[in-house]
This record gives sequence, C-alpha cells and structure tokens, in this order.
Amino acid sequence: MPESPNTVIHLDPDAMLRGRARRVIPGGLWGHLNAARLPEGYPQYYARAEGCRLWDVNGREVVDFMSSWGPIVLGHHHPAVEQAARRQADLGDCMNGPAPVLVELAERLVGLIAHADWCLLAKNGTDATTACVTIARAATGRRKVLVARGSYHGAVPWCSPSLAGVTAEDRAHLVSYDYNDIASVEAAVAEAKGDMAAILVTAFRHDMALPLELPDPAFAQALRTICDQQGAALVVDDVRAGFRLHMAGSWETVGVRPDLSAWSKAIANGHPLAAVTGAEWLRQAATQVFTTGSFWCGAVPMAAALATLGELERIDGPATMAAMGQRLRDGLDALAARHGVPIRQSGPPQMPLVLFEGDAGFRLGDAFCSAALAAGAYFHPRHNMFLNCAHTEADIDRGLQAADAGFAAVARLG
Ligand code: PMP
Repeated sequence: MPESPNTVIHLDPDAMLRGRARRVIPGGLWGHLNAARLPEGYPQYYARAEGCRLWDVNGREVVDFMSSWGPIVLGHHHPAVEQAARRQADLGDCMNGPAPVLVELAERLVGLIAHADWCLLAKNGTDATTACVTIARAATGRRKVLVARGSYHGAVPWCSPSLAGVTAEDRAHLVSYDYNDIASVEAAVAEAKGDMAAILVTAFRHDMALPLELPDPAFAQALRTICDQQGAALVVDDVRAGFRLHMAGSWETVGVRPDLSAWSKAIANGHPLAAVTGAEWLRQAATQVFTTGSFWCGAVPMAAALATLGELERIDGPATMAAMGQRLRDGLDALAARHGVPIRQSGPPQMPLVLFEGDAGFRLGDAFCSAALAAGAYFHPRHNMFLNCAHTEADIDRGLQAADAGFAAVARLG
C-alpha cells in the first residue's frame, strides 16, 4: 500500500537509537560491533545481560553464544566479580597511582602463567600486542616482526585489517608467513636477513570467515626453536583465547612456552584490562619502553581480574566451557544431519565456528543465524563464537532448539 503523507511509522527502540546514532557517530558505530556487519534482524543496542542471557532494547531475550566477543568468560554480571569491583570502587579507582591490588594481580599473573617472570597491565588487546612488539624490538635492537597472513592483532596502523589511513612505513618491518606452515616461516626468517626481533602468533588460527585451525605442535615447536636460534622473541597473542583454553597460557596445550604473551578479553570478565607477560631476558627492555595510559592503573578492573581468575581456577573454567562447547557441537552435528544440511565445525569447543558447506557468500550462514536469533539464540556466521562458564546444559539445549529453526530455514533455501 502506498504511504499517505499522514502515515505514522513506528520505529522500535533499536531502530530509533540507530537513527539518532547515524547523525552523530560515523557509520552509526565504529568497528566490529556494528550490527550492519551482522545478519538481518540482529540488534545493535542492549538493555541488560545476566549469565549467558542478553536482552536487547526491544525486549527480546537470547542465549548468548558470543559472550561480548570474548570478554565475558564467567557469565555476564557475575556476582563475585561485580562484588570485588564494587568493593574496590568504594575505595578508589583512578588515583594518582595504583592501588595495592596491582601488585596482588601482578603476582597472581606471574604465578599463574607458565612463561611469565613479570607483567605489565594496560587496557586493550591492541595495547598489549603493540607493547610486545615494541619490547621485543627494544630487547633485540632489531626491526622485523614475523606476522601470520590474515591474523588479527589489533586496531592500530601497524596491524589494522583496514588500510585506510595506514602508510607503507607503518608496516615496513612486518614480514608475512602462513599459520602452521614451517617452510613459510623459514622463508620469512631468511627475508628478515638477521634483523628479526620477534615472531608473533595467535594462540590458534582464527581468521574471520575461514575454518579455525589449532596449532600443529610441530609448528609451535619450530617457532620456539627458530626464535632461540635467532635470538628473537616468540610472542603469543593470547588476547582472544587466553583463559579459555588453559589457565597457564594457550600454548601449554602444545607444550611450547613463549617469551612474551598479550592478554585481554577474558582477563576481568568484561572489565577493561589487558596484560603483557614476559620472560626474564625481556625485563630490562620492558623497563625502558615507555608504555602507559591515563586509565592503565585503574584499580576496579584489577580487582575484577583477581576475582575472575580465582573463580576460573576454582571451577576449572576451560574444562567447564569445553564440556558445554562439546555438547553444543555434538547437538549441532546431529541437527544438521537431521535437516540434511552439511556443516563444518572447527576450533576448540570453547570457541567454536560453524560454517555451511558451499556457502561462499554466507547466504546460508546468515539465514541460519537470523532464524536462530528469532528463535532465541545469538550465534555468529563468520567469527568464532565464545562459550562462557554460565552456559548450563539447559542453556545449550535451548540454543540447540533455536538452531533447529536455523537449520530449517537453511533447508528451505535448498
Ligand atoms: N589480538 C587478537 C587475537 C584479538 O582477537 C584482538 C581483539 N579481537 C586483539 C588482538 C585486539 O584486542 P582489542 O580489541 O582489545 O584491542
């Protein structure tokens, strides 16, 4: 029916917020959380979160399988974490220097993380990966950093996936290799011609829109050996996987210890914090590099981190998430088979990815996610998802019910 001039269009709260945002925020929202990058029907704005449930501003409740893209590891609004944060907030947060909780947390991280002799704290994963690169260069006096093609390490010019506003000079000393491909690393080492400061590697291969790949233990060991031979730093970017796969560092699962690690996301169950942990030989360089930020000594996230790490250890968070992730994976396989829809699941069960066979344009993945969302579960079609410790068997089963609707929608597309 043609709209008459008097037609009143009723926008829902999410649409109204998006409309207002478009006028004052470039693109409506910066970065990866922009709902324009998500399948149809996905909300942009949220009203509330609890455990593994999210409520959007339109009042819809979903079982959350993204966990805020990683930070939520115990569940949204975890009581022990929020109580620790509130207690510290009552005392002080952003002061002229840190609170005692800084030392307690640094001791905790150094005790917990297998390779760590010291640690620095920051805010974002990008702060941590950037500091690792800078410390490795300061320690070795060399410039080249080997980075896997397609790996994400942050949102500043040296590593941003967008080249807008980035100069060739920003990346002049990066040399590419392919994840899990030792020959490509050897070629990159040769290209670096004795000027190699570090090899940077993610905990596993989690490039967007590709099947996830765990590190081959022989590849991990080869990186360790090459760094030892070359006097370079092995840097594991554990920002995404840290504290989900293993409490002492993700590469404990392959028996390889890095010289430096970058942490963030899950470290404080949603409170803003990042960390760099390092081996003894890099301590002096870490002292010399000027690394700081106005909010980097904030005490509240540190108190939240102590509570988060304590709870994760108490309940064996990685094993808890692995068990629920496996239940999800098995259930999805069974549903896909029942609907006659071939899928490919990959990654560790705590951080799963579901891709549809022959789905180059993500038409099937998007249809699956939109229908599952309407039926009550928030999945992602292209990016690895994140289990958290609040997922119970009942929540997984609720998610599978929604997935059933998703597979039915895909089967209808044929
Ligand atoms: N490294 C990895 C592996 C990441 O997944 C991310 C964030 N997705 C970062 C670094 C950057 O972290 P942040 O967004 O907190 O700066």
